[in-house]
Amino acid sequence: MSPRKPLGLERSPAFTYHQPTSRIPFRKPPRVLRAEEVSLAALAEQYGTPLYVYSATAIQQRLATFDAAFSTIPHTVCYAVKANSNLSLLRMMAKLGCGFDIVSGGELERVLRAHKKAAKKVVFSGVGKTVEEMKFALDSGILLFNVESESELWALATCAARMKKTARIALRVNPEVAAETHPYISTGMREHKFGIPMSDARVLYSRAAGIKGIEIAGVSVHIGSQITDPEPFRLAMSRVTDLVNYLQAEGHTIRFVDAGGGLGISYEDTPSSDPTEFAKYVQSYAERVLQPLRGLGVHLLLEPGRVLVGPAGALVTRVLYRKQHDGKLFLIVDAAMNDLIRPALYKAHHAITPVTLADDVPSEVADVVGPVCETGDFLARDRSLPKCEEASLLAILDAGAYGMAQSGNYNTRPRPAEVMVEGKKAKLVRKRETMDDLMGLEE
Ligand SMILES: *Cc1c(COP(=O)(O)O)cnc(C)c1O
Repeated sequence: MSPRKPLGLERSPAFTYHQPTSRIPFRKPPRVLRAEEVSLAALAEQYGTPLYVYSATAIQQRLATFDAAFSTIPHTVCYAVKANSNLSLLRMMAKLGCGFDIVSGGELERVLRAHKKAAKKVVFSGVGKTVEEMKFALDSGILLFNVESESELWALATCAARMKKTARIALRVNPEVAAETHPYISTGMREHKFGIPMSDARVLYSRAAGIKGIEIAGVSVHIGSQITDPEPFRLAMSRVTDLVNYLQAEGHTIRFVDAGGGLGISYEDTPSSDPTEFAKYVQSYAERVLQPLRGLGVHLLLEPGRVLVGPAGALVTRVLYRKQHDGKLFLIVDAAMNDLIRPALYKAHHAITPVTLADDVPSEVADVVGPVCETGDFLARDRSLPKCEEASLLAILDAGAYGMAQSGNYNTRPRPAEVMVEGKKAKLVRKRETMDDLMGLEE
């Protein structure tokens, strides 16, 4: 047997190539990229492009693996809604027992619409909660407010006291841990707008004690996003543990430690998609988080976003035009920075692979760009890809997190539809936007 050519890029169990059986002897038809057991070409045909496609099985497996890694301690996984806030996805998460980390009243509304009883497992993060959002959260009976400043604490106390309610709070402390990630998504240092410095936190906890409307319940951190080295998490948790010990000695009841989110994924072209590799990775993260906490007797809250849904989603796009000048090749596709902003915003790398892949197609180097009128509107630069003709389909991988969630309507472009696949079944979970959706609010 001759050595097999590389299969192209895959993300098992979400996206793998399927070899259709040949009708012509000795002629192999091209392989087709599938979401679980559904052809992406068929989905693009039915729902149009650009199209977000998610794998329910991949999300379920990742959540189960993540959850299992923390089985030695009482804990709740509060999925970070901002990573992907589609209602069907939230409903699935809630049914699997997830709580939610929210950063706005809008996200709370989504959680409640997804699952009526989900509020009691909601933690509310964010530096700029409005009084209206606080009222809404208090009325809904959420689990915990992660308070990020002294002013916010007094606003929440006033609000809760007026409503004759009590807000359970944790202060989000800033552990001064530098994590290797893009500067826009690093949050754990003094110069960032997030959190309260450790020393200030001690004082603020003592001021908050006994204040009407406030119940001190925990300590919270979140050091950033897309962090793939687990060591900074251990450092952060050991600083949190010191604070918890101090607060308990001062007589505070600290029931919850919220470790935040931020565990990264590999955006490489061919990361290991072996489930045991993923389990090991999550395990090493869990060990680092848990090590300092042993014996503390707290309930651990976790706020993973990207790591649960990132590799479970792809953005399917069609090549509109091939354009060549000055020796440079552009593949102009129908998805753009308004649909997936990560490459433009963070220079993020997303693996891209053709939906149909024939043997012996030569590779070529191209910039994959969208139709938006910005030079920053690219999905990949100088990327080596199997040669693709006009009208062929490409899948932009690892787009399940911060893809649709960060999309917009720049250039008056309707946002993509979203489809959730499970096994052989595909369900439209968000319709493609219409011109009325875009202009209905305007005079
Ligand atoms: C964004 C965010 C998360 C989720 O981050 P991921 O990198 O997607 O895991 C969790 N907690 C807070 C407070 C956040 O702001």
